[in-house]
This record gives sequence, structure tokens and C-alpha cells, in this order.
Amino acid sequence: MQAVVFNEFGHSDVLRLEELPDPEPGPGEVLVDVTATALNHLDVDVREGTSRFPVECPHVPGVEPVGRIAALGEGVEGWQVGDRVAVYLIATCGACRYCVTGRESLCTAPDWFVGMGSPGAYAERVTCKTSQLVRVPDGVSDIEAAATNIAFATAWHMLVTRARLRPGESVLVNSVGSGIGSAAVQVAKLAGAFVIGTSSRADKLEKAKELGLDVGIDYTSEKISEAVMRVTNDQGVDIVYEHVGGELFQEGLESLAKDGRLVTCGAHSGEVVPFDIIPFFRRQLSVIGSFVFTREEVELCFRLVAQGSLRPQIAATFPLEKVKEATDLMESRDFFGKIILLPGGRS
Ligand SMILES: [Zn+2]
Repeated sequence: MQAVVFNEFGHSDVLRLEELPDPEPGPGEVLVDVTATALNHLDVDVREGTSRFPVECPHVPGVEPVGRIAALGEGVEGWQVGDRVAVYLIATCGACRYCVTGRESLCTAPDWFVGMGSPGAYAERVTCKTSQLVRVPDGVSDIEAAATNIAFATAWHMLVTRARLRPGESVLVNSVGSGIGSAAVQVAKLAGAFVIGTSSRADKLEKAKELGLDVGIDYTSEKISEAVMRVTNDQGVDIVYEHVGGELFQEGLESLAKDGRLVTCGAHSGEVVPFDIIPFFRRQLSVIGSFVFTREEVELCFRLVAQGSLRPQIAATFPLEKVKEATDLMESRDFFGKIILLPGGRS
């Protein structure tokens, strides 16, 4: 099979298209012909060796394959060759106290993560455990499924599950043009929130308004926390949806209403920040960590896409051999939504 490999950590020019042997599904596993996979900023951290996950070279990146089951390993039941599936990125144990209470993103004994502990989705084929499979329903294309999986399930997990967003609350979404930003605008609107969003570009803010954004803030011309206070009559927002880190994390804290909560899942612009404890406790704020999502949340988001309640945003699609162009586009931030690779050359 063809796969994108890096043999050393570094910039996008370390990515190579190579011919690798087809993986073999072991007991309880399936082989998936990958038709589509979305790019994630995590792939960049993995490739640069800064992800804090134990990744070794050579490595095939890519954390969210979508495709069709091509072969069944020994003892597999309930799945057929040809089934259209997305792969949940963690091979969870299914038995720890978190797995058995529907909190599998906290699994204490995960086998591996697709694209981190095992070969990833920038390839024509991957293997995974049946416990990782999520059916893609009719009405959701492979490309839409790839653009939905991590982006929308992450947004759902952060806003609804972790931050417990309620109708009538206000939400600040940082970077509305990103995959998880454009997803969060839609999830927040669907949940009945007043949605404020940031971007460095007016055209991205306009596009986000088509998805439910109520007020856009261009952070190149106005300090975010000051703009939020202007828009909310000096009250601040109930929830800040944060995935950037660094200065935006600080601005997020300063944008919160009393009893507000900042929920975060990323920090590629700065992982360690100063933290002023006094206003934090006097204003009774909360900072909430969020890590991935559950398979149930992926299934829910697929259903909401199928019924037209959520609209995955496809920025561009690329064949596998154009992986460098695709990655460079993602790192340029000059796009809106999700960038999709098509390893099988079809949708
Ligand atoms: Zn577990």
C-alpha cells in the first residue's frame, strides 16, 4: 500500500510517500481501506516530535481514518467487509472504571492511539480494533465523516459534556476559521447559546456568521477581552472555548463573566502561561480541561450531520501524494474548516 511516512522529526519536507506492506488485522481487529482522513494540528506536533506522545520514527501520521472494512481478523463478529466506518482514535480497554461509565476518553489502559502509538491514517489501509469502529450513516459522505469526527465530537465534548453549556448562555469561540472553531460555533448555536467568535480575518468571521456566529471580533484590530466586554455590557461570557493557548488563553480568562468557565483542549501557541489566582477565586471562575471525546459523541455528531443540523466545513481535499501541500495549507491557517486527504483517491 501507499503511505505517508516520516523517518525523522521536522517540517513538512520530511513527509515521504512510500510503498509499505499491507497491515494484517490481528484477532478482534479489522483492516480498513481508507478513503478519507482529515488533517489535524496534532499531526504537526507528532511530525515535529513535540506532541508529548511516545512516537518513534519511521511513523505514519493521521488520527482519524474513514473508509470501508476490507478484511476481518479472527473472531470478529457484528461487522462485515464493505461496512462504511470511521475509526475512534483510542483503542480503549473497555474494562477500567472510566470505560465502564461512558468516560472512555479517560481510559487508564489504552492500547494505542491511531497515528500515535500505531501507524496512522495517511495511508491506503489501517488496522484497528472493532471496539474503535463507528458506523457512518447514510446521508453522510466519507469526506463529511472525516470532517466531522474529531472536529465536531471535540466541540461537543468540550461545550456540552465538559463545560455543560445551557441554552441562553454566552460563548466565546477562539479562531472560528479552524476545524474545531467552525464546529464549535455550530454546536454552541444548536445548544441555544449567544455565540461570539474571534479571527484575524473579516472573511472568516463573515463565513462563521452563516454557521450561527452572532458577533465577530477581529483580534488584529481590537483586544479580545475589551471587545467581549463591549458586546456583553461589561458582563463577560459564560463559557470560553479555548484551543490555542498562550495569549488567547489569557484573553479568555479576562473575557469570562463571574462564575464563568474556560474549557481548553489545546495550546500550540503557548503551553505554559502565567496565572493570576486572585481574580480567579474572587470571580469564582473555572478552568476545565478536555481531552478528545467518546465514540457515542462521534455517533451523535454523525446523526446531526445526517439530519442537517450540523454542517461540516470542507476547506480542501488532496490526494495522498499532495500531502505536503495539504499540510502546508493547514499550517498557513489560510483556510476555513477541515482539510481532507483522500488516500483511496475517491470520496
Ligand atoms: Zn479503559
